Amino acid sequence: MSIKDNLDVVTDKINRACKKANRNLEDITLIAVTKTKPIEDMEAALEYGVLNVGENKVQEIRDKYEVFENKFKWHMIGHLQTNKVKYIVDKVDFIHSVDSIKLAKMISKEASKKGCEVNILVQINIAEEDSKYGISQSDAEEFIRDISILPNIKIRGLMTVAPYVDDPEDNRLVFRKLREICVDIKQKNIDNVYMDVLSMGMTNDYEVAIEEGSTMVRIGTAIFGKRNYAKG
Ligand SMILES: *Cc1c(COP(=O)(O)O)cnc(C)c1O
Repeated sequence: MSIKDNLDVVTDKINRACKKANRNLEDITLIAVTKTKPIEDMEAALEYGVLNVGENKVQEIRDKYEVFENKFKWHMIGHLQTNKVKYIVDKVDFIHSVDSIKLAKMISKEASKKGCEVNILVQINIAEEDSKYGISQSDAEEFIRDISILPNIKIRGLMTVAPYVDDPEDNRLVFRKLREICVDIKQKNIDNVYMDVLSMGMTNDYEVAIEEGSTMVRIGTAIFGKRNYAKG
C-alpha cells in the first residue's frame, strides 16, 4: 500500500466515524505522525494534502523544519525537556505534551522572547500508567488555573496517550473521561483557557476516539507503515 492509498483508507474511516457519531469532518484535524520517517514520505504526504505533522523529538523537528518550513503545521507530541523549548517554540503550532508548571513557564518565556504565541495542550495520564507522562486527572483543573496566567501561550485543550490495547473498545472510557474533564474545565470559564481541542486517538483506536469527541487524531503507522527505530 502506498502512502496515498493509506491516506485514502484513513480519511475514509475518519469520515465514517464522523457519520456514526453525527459529527462534521471539518471538526477533525488529521495529524500525520512522521517521526522516524524520511523526507520523501513527508513529501508524499504533502502532495496528498496532509497539512499537519506530528513529531516527538526536538532535533527531528529542527532538521525537517529546515526542509519544509511552514508548508506543514508542526505538532510537538512527545515529552519535551525545558532546555530544548527554545529550539522549537517559534516553529510549532501546537505543543501537545505539557505536563509540568516548569515546562509551561519555559514555553511562555521563550515564546515571549521570540514574540510568538503557542497553542498548548495539557497531557493527562487518564489510565494512570507509570510508564506514561502526563498529569493525573485530579490535578488537571488546578494545573490549568496555575498556567492560565502565563503570557504568550494559549491553553487550547487536553491530550492523552491511551494504553496499548488489542481491542480499541477498551479505550472508549479513557477517551470519554478526557472529554468529560475538558467539558468540566471549559465550563469554569477560566481566562485564556479555550478547551476546544481534544487530542486523542492513534492508529489503533482513532475511530473510537472520534466517536468520543476527539478533534485531533495522531496517526503514524496507518499512514506510513511500521517504524524502524533501529534505523533511527
Ligand atoms: C508515535 C505517536 C503516535 C502515532 O502512533 P501510531 O500508533 O503509529 O499511529 C501518536 N501519538 C504520540 C504521542 C506518539 O508518540
